[in-house]
Amino acid sequence: MQHVLVLGDQLNLERFDLYPPKQTQILMIESIARGQVMQYHKQKLLLLYSAMRHFKVELELKGFQVFYWQGQTFEEGFAAYLQQFPKATITVMQPAEYGVAEKLQTIVSGLDGQLEIIENCLWLSTHADWQTYAADKKSYRMEFFYRQLRRKTNWLMDGSEPLGGKWNFDSENRLVPPKNHIFPKPLELKPDAITLETKAFIEQHFANHFGTLEQFNWAVTRQQALQVLDHFLEFRLHDFGAYEDAIVVGQAQLYHSLLSPAINLGLLTAKEVCETALKYIDQVPLSSLEGFIRQILGWREFMHHIYSTLMPDFREANGYSLTRDLPHFYWTSKTKMHCVSSAVTQVWNTGHAHHIQRLMILGNFALLAGIRPQAVNDWFLLGFVDAFDWVVTPNVIGMSQYADGGTFTSKPYISGAAYINRMSNHCQHCQYNPKETIGANACPFNSLYWNFINQHLLSLAKNPRMSIILANWQKRDQTTQAAILEQAKHILQNLEQI
Ligand code: FAD
Ligand code: SF4
Repeated sequence: MQHVLVLGDQLNLERFDLYPPKQTQILMIESIARGQVMQYHKQKLLLLYSAMRHFKVELELKGFQVFYWQGQTFEEGFAAYLQQFPKATITVMQPAEYGVAEKLQTIVSGLDGQLEIIENCLWLSTHADWQTYAADKKSYRMEFFYRQLRRKTNWLMDGSEPLGGKWNFDSENRLVPPKNHIFPKPLELKPDAITLETKAFIEQHFANHFGTLEQFNWAVTRQQALQVLDHFLEFRLHDFGAYEDAIVVGQAQLYHSLLSPAINLGLLTAKEVCETALKYIDQVPLSSLEGFIRQILGWREFMHHIYSTLMPDFREANGYSLTRDLPHFYWTSKTKMHCVSSAVTQVWNTGHAHHIQRLMILGNFALLAGIRPQAVNDWFLLGFVDAFDWVVTPNVIGMSQYADGGTFTSKPYISGAAYINRMSNHCQHCQYNPKETIGANACPFNSLYWNFINQHLLSLAKNPRMSIILANWQKRDQTTQAAILEQAKHILQNLEQI
């Protein structure tokens, strides 16, 4: 008999084609204590537990025996299993989160069982691929690893050259949709009896957690995940590239795929998502297809390897020595800043915000306001349905907060209101004026931006990509500089009231 442990982010049915059902015993553990480690978004817990419960049923339909343990801790789950199957050797795919394999090993060996870790088949690239790229490097760039993987997969290639003559069509992907643009309607998914039962369970055990369940609309089965994928490819991929960076009031999805939860849980593999998208090559602009493939083959794989390489010190990085806690409006959305308030409301209602909202609104504001990177990381970890440590930590600590000093990004992602005003229509609905830096109506992003530049002048001066911005600050007369810094000081002293 083979014993296989399936973790909550390894819900991939296809790999069980290799296992004979009659000689395979499966273990799944649904731990309440794990769900209470942080005040995780209720929708994240509903998604995870409902997807696990559906997965159990699907395995059983294929003829597998599933020992599905529901209770407080992982330890109790393993103890119950090893009482029924003493001294079992349990196989598990390499967990994505740092330190989990070791923790599980300790629990299982303490109960007289054995844990065997096998390769995780859900990634598109291997450790060897990463070593080929990274072995001799101290800092890393996604673009070059991505090109290596393009060559390896032969995706969007024309012989040894990139299709269309360019590796990257980013410069074509920065449009803002015209006024009154009609976006495709989101796909609606109906909750079934398992999801409704799990919903009641979440309200019972996690009542005080972040978020609301009312608008829950996430795929909890492979079949639903395939529907989300098809819907995206049919109605959204075409304009994915063009409007990738745009933010529009009242539009949560725009042309994004909303596939991260399904891919991160294993309901869909990254490989099949890319391969299915590539079939649309004659129907969508190359800039959209390449842009989408780059997010998954490029960014997603890259972040996973960055995390594995830099942990555990990486999570504690705080290069700017920031100490402030997150203001309350990251929980309540009660701020006059329209862009921030809308993004937090969206996260509360859905557990999701798209990349530019995460990076240039929520993350940008936190960095400009001098929030401790670990507090920001925790907030992103608990607030989003697609959040797992391996993907949150590099995106927050590295990409968004630059707390690692730029191991894999070339400069901090910070901006004042001008960028947000260009890429969104939020400022038109805001009490603050994006064009003002000083005064009661001035957008807080502006003075905080210059305050950040001034505070970190010495370290930023070492970065050639910041030179124009620094020159822009330094050419201002002292009186103007002092007034801007005073404005920033006032805002930071009254962060809860802005
Ligand atoms: P799309 O825009 O449709 O992109 C397609 C896919 O590309 C995504 O589903 C995702 O699998 C992948 N992808 C794109 N960018 C990244 C990236 N930077 N890192 C990893 N994968 C990427 N992604 C998560 O999956 N979970 C998180 O908790 C998460 N937290 C983030 C926090 C911050 C501060 C930032 C800046 C980014 C974060 N991301 C995270 C990356 C990205 O924002 C999300 O993957 C994306 O918004 C998910 O929505 P989507 O599926 O509609 O993506
Ligand atoms: Fe955001 Fe400032 Fe624009 Fe208001 S004015 S929406 S706070 S960028």
